Amino acid sequence: MDPTIGVLALQGDVREHLEVLRAAGAEPLAVRRRVELAACDGLVIPGGESTTMVKLARIFELLEPLRDAVRGGLPTFGTCAGMILLADRIEDGAAGQESVGGLHITVRRNAFGRQVDSFEEDLHLDGLADPVRAIFIRAPWVEAVDEDVEVLGRVEDGPAAGRIVAVRQGPLMATSFHPEVGGDGRVHGMFVDLVRSA
Ligand code: GLN
Repeated sequence: MDPTIGVLALQGDVREHLEVLRAAGAEPLAVRRRVELAACDGLVIPGGESTTMVKLARIFELLEPLRDAVRGGLPTFGTCAGMILLADRIEDGAAGQESVGGLHITVRRNAFGRQVDSFEEDLHLDGLADPVRAIFIRAPWVEAVDEDVEVLGRVEDGPAAGRIVAVRQGPLMATSFHPEVGGDGRVHGMFVDLVRSA
């Protein structure tokens, strides 16, 4: 049976993730309520605006359930703002910015600066034979990782070359870029495999 993979649907690019997940062999589910979260075998936290998403999670009484779910081992994939929500530590966050946490990284919000708000490049990811076209939109990067975090990819060109932009820690995955844009389902495929093997 296809695993049910939720997309946190409070704000951000929800629809794109739902479509790519379906194409990657999952049963997608928009998650706005606790019962929906409880029905998931895995969860995507999409890109959007991290401070807004956290505020909405609190208002929808989802923040604690999300923390419990991630702590309890729910496979979770955060993209862009979703990576910020999964991070244990945030640099350049809004004052007092909260997160779901669980991923043992320090993330720097809007790390690439104003001049390079958005850009794309071909990026090699551990576990994929060919590079993916990675689209960065006001993206964070991973400033530091604890020992139990595996680095899956780094920026390859330009002034930010070497910066970590894709990681995995057990059932948790995060990318700075937007794998739901551009029609390449392989990164979601990696996550679906992770959910299946969890
Ligand atoms: N800059 C946004 C934030 O801080 C993230 C941007 C994105 O998800 N594309 O939440």
